[in-house]
Amino acid sequence: MPELPEVEIVRLFLDQHILGKTISNLEILSPKSFVGDPKNIEGQKIISTSRLGKQLSLHLNNGLILLFHLKMTGQVIYGGVSLGHPTPNLPTEALAKVGKSTRVVFTFSDNSKLFFNDQRKFGWVKILTKDELVEAQKNVGVDVLSPAFTDKYFYQRLQSTSRSIKVVLLDQSKFAGIGNIYDNDALFLSKINPSISSNKITQKLAKILRQNLIDLMNESLFHGGSTAKDNKYIHPDGTKGEHQYHFRVYQRAGEPCLVCQTSIKRIKIGGRGTFYCSKCQHITD
Ligand SMILES: [Zn+2]
Repeated sequence: MPELPEVEIVRLFLDQHILGKTISNLEILSPKSFVGDPKNIEGQKIISTSRLGKQLSLHLNNGLILLFHLKMTGQVIYGGVSLGHPTPNLPTEALAKVGKSTRVVFTFSDNSKLFFNDQRKFGWVKILTKDELVEAQKNVGVDVLSPAFTDKYFYQRLQSTSRSIKVVLLDQSKFAGIGNIYDNDALFLSKINPSISSNKITQKLAKILRQNLIDLMNESLFHGGSTAKDNKYIHPDGTKGEHQYHFRVYQRAGEPCLVCQTSIKRIKIGGRGTFYCSKCQHITD
């Protein structure tokens, strides 16, 4: 599932390639994946992009917003005339056509196209007004890369519940943008056992964990995000991220810990695959 860095990479790409373009046509292949009346956005120009956690917004010149959530398997693919430097190695041309999992196709006035693909159909695109966007995101917590994600905010939210830290970090109503990859790896870097109750994390430890979360997000951004083993996440030009080559414990069950060589364990906490080193992650209360 795309997390904060993966969605941010998509946003940065779109910022570079579709800003100022006018939507000339909209093709909805799966009504479940699209909410709103296409007539309200046809002829409108994309003027800016923004992101909150895993949600991506395209702002239009009539004040409406296209809100994207990629959920489990959503992909945004862009192909067309303005990609520049068309090298034969780029799979974009092959990808930039309607496929089995294509749910929505946006065509711009320069004939370039944006495809919203989603195998499992949990993702969606919605047309919203500014007020509706505020309403839709009122229960989304502070973005991990926002200045509002302070030590104080983080520690207070951790203190509010006795659920396991592993599960609490995934709670988008508290912190927006953390998914299973960065959750597992940040706990490893902080030497915290994933089963520990959230409210047992000390202020000092919360500070370390928060910094590791921020550092990991930035490190992954630098690597172009993570294209994990399922290969679901790719960049809008069809290329892959490279942070998967830098995973600490995530998807490394049975492999040696990068610090102590102990075999990485995989258990389930709150129904989610949890990877950890039983030796390094010794902080249990
Ligand atoms: Zn270890």
